[in-house]
Amino acid sequence: MNYRTEMYEVRDTEFPAMVFSFKPFGEIASSENADQSSFFDIIGVITSPGRVVKQSRYRLIEVEISDEHHNKILCTIWDSNVESYLSQLSKAEGTVPIIIVQFCKPNVFRGEIGVSTHYQASKILINADIDEVKEFRSRIKHDDTFLETISVGQPGMMVNREFDDLDVKALGDVVCLEQFISDFGQQDGSYWVFGKVESIEPHFGEWYYLACKTCVKKVRILDDKKFRCDFCIKNFDVAVKRFRFVANIVDDSSNASILLWDREVVQLIGKKGE
Ligand SMILES: [Zn+2]
Repeated sequence: MNYRTEMYEVRDTEFPAMVFSFKPFGEIASSENADQSSFFDIIGVITSPGRVVKQSRYRLIEVEISDEHHNKILCTIWDSNVESYLSQLSKAEGTVPIIIVQFCKPNVFRGEIGVSTHYQASKILINADIDEVKEFRSRIKHDDTFLETISVGQPGMMVNREFDDLDVKALGDVVCLEQFISDFGQQDGSYWVFGKVESIEPHFGEWYYLACKTCVKKVRILDDKKFRCDFCIKNFDVAVKRFRFVANIVDDSSNASILLWDREVVQLIGKKGE
């Protein structure tokens, strides 16, 4: 598709209304370096329904999903899909809830590969009345472990996951915190903030820096066109471009500028620096 692509709604009962492209969990886990910009669908049993993490207007929920072979994957459901997830989940009470996440993307979180929804593009379906779900259910119907592990609706089942110890702060708090740190020399920390990216700008005029291909630290360009890495104590013939730029983000408490590094940028825009 490009800017000239014209789209028409197809109203043909023969044309399948829902076409899925399910990706096996194992394939997702082994495709860390694969094309991060492609979408796919997943199907599985909700084995841990997660808990809503909330900050200002932004919410997310992290759900553990198991495939029929008990391979597990974590799915981060972002703000625009949380409401749909929760309402369908409450209707699924007393069942083995089978979830389809349509149009999700792989994401790497603390070194673990999972999937996440992607704005309004993604769609959540729990116990949908479609063949794919019926077939999945029939494949696991003799597997009692799914019955045992699942009790949607019971608060005790809200298994603690990654986000439980997450220190989510409003931007206003972080700005105060920075002031506090510089005033009192307190220890630095890592915090999660939720915000809307208002604009992006180069960092000191550059969108990227030249990095050592071995250690990814910044290299100096030498007179003989070689690249010097002071960390590796070595000269290289080539260097790699790595993104580094500033994102200005806002939430309803404040605004902040955040320096984004290559890994985050690649995840955000789905493209590599070269
Ligand atoms: Zn190096």
